[in-house]
Amino acid sequence: MKKIELDVKKIAEEYQGGESSLTLQNKYRVSYKTIYRALDEAGVDRRDVSNMTKNAYSSGRMLHMKKVWKDSGERWRSTKNPRWKPVGTKRKSHGYVIVKTKNGWVQEHRLIVERIFKRELLRDEIVHHINGIKDDNRKSNLYYFGRESMHRSYHGKKNKPILKSNI
Ligand SMILES: [Zn+2]
Repeated sequence: MKKIELDVKKIAEEYQGGESSLTLQNKYRVSYKTIYRALDEAGVDRRDVSNMTKNAYSSGRMLHMKKVWKDSGERWRSTKNPRWKPVGTKRKSHGYVIVKTKNGWVQEHRLIVERIFKRELLRDEIVHHINGIKDDNRKSNLYYFGRESMHRSYHGKKNKPILKSNI
């Protein structure tokens, strides 16, 4: 049988964006075990599933998010987008590295993820520094949370799982 190559990062991203594991298993035509394995590989925490209300909400939100992401991707790719322009000077602000773009000063760790995703990040999307060092912007130190509430609940955990970069 042909081995299916799964895009682990993409699955993790979609899952964190609110997609349910059921939707993902249908989309990628794999079993839930495969989805879970992909999430484990990406270092993503599994949500408790099988809550119909939550799932219905998630898939509704996912449709909405897909449109938002598409629009922001289009804006991002537009030649008029100053964020494409090379960045200039770097500075520090509240412990974070900020870089000057023609859009003004932006946080470098967010810009790095925006370049990888090829779209703007929404305010609700959070880029977390895995080792807690706010100016350590190595890709391996950055972790994407699809929603601020997920980021908050991660910080609220007593025994925080060790995160592995998912970008
Ligand atoms: Zn954080």
